[in-house]
Amino acid sequence: MSDLKFCQGPDCHTYSTQDRLKGPKGNKTYQTRRRSNFYYGRGNFCDQRCLYDWVALHIEQGLDRFGRTTQAKHLTENNAWIKDYDWRANVDDSHRHYTRNTITREQRPLTEAQYNDSNYTLNTGE
Ligand SMILES: [Zn+2]
Repeated sequence: MSDLKFCQGPDCHTYSTQDRLKGPKGNKTYQTRRRSNFYYGRGNFCDQRCLYDWVALHIEQGLDRFGRTTQAKHLTENNAWIKDYDWRANVDDSHRHYTRNTITREQRPLTEAQYNDSNYTLNTGE
């Protein structure tokens, strides 16, 4: 039997859906959802409502604990390259895949292998 885990939503048990209603007749309760896998919040929440309930409850603590953004971050030309492709181009068109700088608008062709290589980038990381 696989391990079941509980939804981490603080109010999960208060949402009255049939799948949460459990127990013997005359003694039924709404219960926190329990599943082998969840799809929200990195597998910790049964749905978006439960995820956002948790965020609303803990967001200030989390930001205080892990640090707030207090000034604008900057994405420079050196790191503004994105990969894209022209879906209208012919399959054998060598210019189908390209990388484009979102600041300078410069565009350079990519091979399909470069396009698919998640490590390949013109971004310098500095
Ligand atoms: Zn839930």
